[in-house]
Amino acid sequence: MKPHTTASPSKKPNTTKSNGSPASKKATSSTTAKQSSGLHTLFVDQLKDIYWAEKTLTKEIPKMAKKATDEDLISALESHLEETKQQVIQCEEVFSLLNMKPQAKVCEAMQGLLEEAKEIMDETEEGSVRDAGIICAAQKIEHYEIATYGCLVAFARKLNQMEAAEILEGILEEEKNADSKLTEVAETAVNDDASDEEE
Ligand code: ZN
Ligand code: FE
Ligand code: FE
Ligand code: FE
Repeated sequence: MKPHTTASPSKKPNTTKSNGSPASKKATSSTTAKQSSGLHTLFVDQLKDIYWAEKTLTKEIPKMAKKATDEDLISALESHLEETKQQVIQCEEVFSLLNMKPQAKVCEAMQGLLEEAKEIMDETEEGSVRDAGIICAAQKIEHYEIATYGCLVAFARKLNQMEAAEILEGILEEEKNADSKLTEVAETAVNDDASDEEE
């Protein structure tokens, strides 16, 4: 297993405060360059990861919608599918802001979350209990996306990629809204119906 590396932008030396000799100035700026290129690499890696996840979700969300019964759930999934297709394009825009071709890297976490979604759908009867399970699986996916985009926004800002940060922040808001919408569907109908099924 690879050691887990953590970016620590907060530890980045504050260059504006360093008024030392030319030698110490040089040392400070090279440290800064090294740390920010490390953060840049992490930023790009995470972007490739979420780009793969979004592209995969454009194929997987329809499968979840197909297995769902509640109309509000189906429409929540379908409208997030449309957002997700746009998010793929927006991620491509971020790559182009970085002067890079879009590149996807398999996200093992999303793979696992999607396997779990499939398992839930296979193991439940069609109806409100399956719907409750689909909501649960979909919210885990949204939370993963929220975590990733939250980091990407912070990294983009640290790296002074303000245009990229703005695009990513827009996506982050959509993921948060998708999550809230799923909570609403669960609380207004699906969970009640699912618990009635027990009686
Ligand atoms: Zn997504
Ligand atoms: Fe997304
Ligand atoms: Fe990932
Ligand atoms: Fe999403």
